[in-house]
Amino acid sequence: MNAHHDRPLRVALLGCGVVGTEVARRLTRDADELARRVGAPLELAGIAVRRAGAERDLPGVPADLFTTDADALVRRGDLDLVVEVMGGIDPAGDLVRAALENGASVVTANKALLAARGAELFEAAAKAERDLSFEAAVAGAIPIVRPLRESLAGDRVHRVLGIVNGTTNYILDQMTTLGQSFDEALAEAQRLGYAEADPTADVEGHDAAAKAALLAGLAFHTNLTLDDVYCEGITKVTAEAVRSATETGSVVKLLAICEQTETDDGVAVSARVHPALVPQSHPLASVRGAYNAVFVESEAAGDLMFYGQGAGGAPTASAVLGDLVAAARNRVGGVWGPGETSHADVELLPVGRALTRYHMDIDVDDRAGVLASIAQEFARFGVSIQTMRQDGRGSDARLVIVTHEAEDASLAATVEVLRGLDVVRDVTSVLRVEGGS
Ligand code: NAP
Repeated sequence: MNAHHDRPLRVALLGCGVVGTEVARRLTRDADELARRVGAPLELAGIAVRRAGAERDLPGVPADLFTTDADALVRRGDLDLVVEVMGGIDPAGDLVRAALENGASVVTANKALLAARGAELFEAAAKAERDLSFEAAVAGAIPIVRPLRESLAGDRVHRVLGIVNGTTNYILDQMTTLGQSFDEALAEAQRLGYAEADPTADVEGHDAAAKAALLAGLAFHTNLTLDDVYCEGITKVTAEAVRSATETGSVVKLLAICEQTETDDGVAVSARVHPALVPQSHPLASVRGAYNAVFVESEAAGDLMFYGQGAGGAPTASAVLGDLVAAARNRVGGVWGPGETSHADVELLPVGRALTRYHMDIDVDDRAGVLASIAQEFARFGVSIQTMRQDGRGSDARLVIVTHEAEDASLAATVEVLRGLDVVRDVTSVLRVEGGS
């Protein structure tokens, strides 16, 4: 097929770091093939960075394309497409907005930005009749935004369970397979480049929570921000808890869970991120190392799993370029693609009302009557016990209890009361159980 657009499409890059460098490299190397796929050449018109003079390994990319004036670049008025891969909320948000208002379609990999200012930016895109695409913002290379927005547009999604942060999955996998402590596994992840020097956003769950907000919005046609997502990281997960999980046939994973729940008043949506026990028989249990996966439960399609690399320059650039080609084709055709659907302004369910199960490790006195007094507290909160096992004797006596499904608030209240019982020496680990019955 020959290019049939009358002029090249002008593309600006905002950011040329891990992801931007791969995008620029592939745009240059694969220019002819991309032109054939789009129907017009894609021409790099400018690249905004912080350090314009820095050495960059980008053969074929003219040095005079680099600028530190990102604002002037997005406002120059002749851009067709802008790729935002600089990260952060400021100035990225205002730049994306200005790019849309100046007539460009935008592709971004920035989950933090969309989880903070998504509603406003999608509105700006709709008003400008331009695309705002973000496949790379959730789980890197894995196609999940387009499947939820397009392939499943005629189905009803009930639940999305995601391993959407490679750093934490790597750490938990090391703890499971090698028996390492959290600190040992984190140090190893940093040594191998899977974790940043400041790992807070990953290990505290903030990165996964931003992705959970985006996934819930797509799955349930509503708007969520980071503040709507309950978030617990993995820093308190102990080697002992991971070992105890393994003994019960489960593995510990950091999950992003987005659910639609029937309530007395209709339907409510919840999004939460926390470590959870996943039965070894569940497909998510086999997601190893720094890999990501998103498991979707829907009414007609049933269960679907999307699996692959959730980060890294080349994998993320694949998703960015997929969006870029789609948005460029739309420019050639004079159309724009499906925007966000946020018509379902549903109630947000607080985490306390989410239904889940708990796995608890409890150090107890080894004497008659202990089991009865513990069971009584569960009954008081209407929580039923699925399995209870005693390990060890004397001062090593420990109970491992797995509950049936109950509201999170009732389970948490039960744990609080157990902590105060005379017969309980310590509740050493409490983890939710997901993905099984
Ligand atoms: P990065 O390596 O830190 O690169 C950031 C780039 O943006 C650099 O080129 C930097 O310029 C430029 N920049 C930063 N602030 C700027 C400013 N105020 N004005 C102009 N330029 C600015 O980041 P990255 O890892 O490529 O990530 C980019 C985005 O992709 C983020 O939103 C991230 O969440 C998302 N993402 C990344 C991955 C991944 O695996 N890395 C995966 C999925 C999504 P200099 O080069 O001069 O420093």
